[in-house]
Amino acid sequence: MTGTALPVIGTGCADLPVLKERGQREVFCGLTGIVWLHRKMQDAFFLVVGSRTCAHLLQSAAGVMIFAEPRFATAILGDRDLAGMADCNEELDRVVRQLLARRPDITTLFLVGSCPSEVIKLDLARAAARLSREYQGAVRILNYSGSGIETTFTQGEDACLKAMVPAMPAAASDERALLVCGTMADVVEDQFARLFAELGIGPVHFFPPRRAAALPPVGPGTQVLLAQPFLNETTRALVARGATLLSAPYPFGVEGTTAWLRAAAEAWAVTPARFASAIAAPAQRARTAVARYRETLDGKRLFFFPDSQLEIPLARFLARECGVELLEVGTPYLDRLLVDPELALLPPTQLAEGQDVERQLDRCRAQHPDLTICGLGLANPLEADGLRTKWSIELVFSPVHGFDQAGDLAELFARPLQRIAKLKV
Ligand code: SF4
Repeated sequence: MTGTALPVIGTGCADLPVLKERGQREVFCGLTGIVWLHRKMQDAFFLVVGSRTCAHLLQSAAGVMIFAEPRFATAILGDRDLAGMADCNEELDRVVRQLLARRPDITTLFLVGSCPSEVIKLDLARAAARLSREYQGAVRILNYSGSGIETTFTQGEDACLKAMVPAMPAAASDERALLVCGTMADVVEDQFARLFAELGIGPVHFFPPRRAAALPPVGPGTQVLLAQPFLNETTRALVARGATLLSAPYPFGVEGTTAWLRAAAEAWAVTPARFASAIAAPAQRARTAVARYRETLDGKRLFFFPDSQLEIPLARFLARECGVELLEVGTPYLDRLLVDPELALLPPTQLAEGQDVERQLDRCRAQHPDLTICGLGLANPLEADGLRTKWSIELVFSPVHGFDQAGDLAELFARPLQRIAKLKV
């Protein structure tokens, strides 16, 4: 690959028919987002109102923190609560008061709904409003749902960020400001902050912020650049507050990162020469890093099950920069507002929206891909069938955005293939 942009192949996948499936789904619920959100916002606390199952999910996904004060917990609904024999609101208020008395470091408390709290129709929005009045000026109390009844796991972040949008202060003026939206590791955020500074783009805010108490401003001058392709509702909430969405591919791989930065550069009228000079060194480093894995990935046949909502940008990166052949790219939801620039770049392939897991498994087994990207629940059965798999959740937990992570991103897909090649020797 040379230069900073690859050609579009016709209209890519933009006009191709999409296979829409509705059936049994195999995905994690939105509570999973707490794993990376609690690491990002260190002054926030996530109180899940749920069952023992919810507590187990969180503890096994996030690991149990023994030495640190935890930043998430589950208020467990007991049999009496579920049977409607206890006043859950009184119980919840008591738990919140205990928690906040013991933890003065908490500035933002999220009450997170779950399947059980939704089934018994516990109104967490009213609970958050009630408790907000009590703690006004001291602790911001918000709520969102992480229930698995109708979600996939990355929707937890979307719901959390959307819940914060009404609390964002109004921008003091209509002056242009960049709002990078979507959780990224701090080290990746710092890399982008340096690149934006070199390009003369600013002021730049990141959302979610590292301190939940310091929410960035929003207003008619806000230009939103999405770092994650699953923030559908947050994007619409920001637009409703006057912000403008900068339409761009996502910063995965050299091409995606270049196009993503270029969208901001064009909005700030950065000259092509300054842009090329600012990205030249990191883009070259990224090309070199990706090339190390191209030999392993080139020509390999990949099948994406719908899970993380990162499928389309990652498939674009793997096809265009690593030479893989895409058999099917499934995604839980296809929101064209957020993925049209990606679809235009994606080489023609079978796109599928939604899930009917048995039919997808049949198609996957029939095609016998070299690598299948899927949720944890499907990986073991497919491995037992002799297929190599990659857990899609790992792609959300790992720092994979930007130039300096492009090689690591390619490696995440190359590693299972290299492992099997070694076993065959
Ligand atoms: S929210 Fe629902 S899907 Fe998620 S762990 Fe709790 S019960 Fe299970």
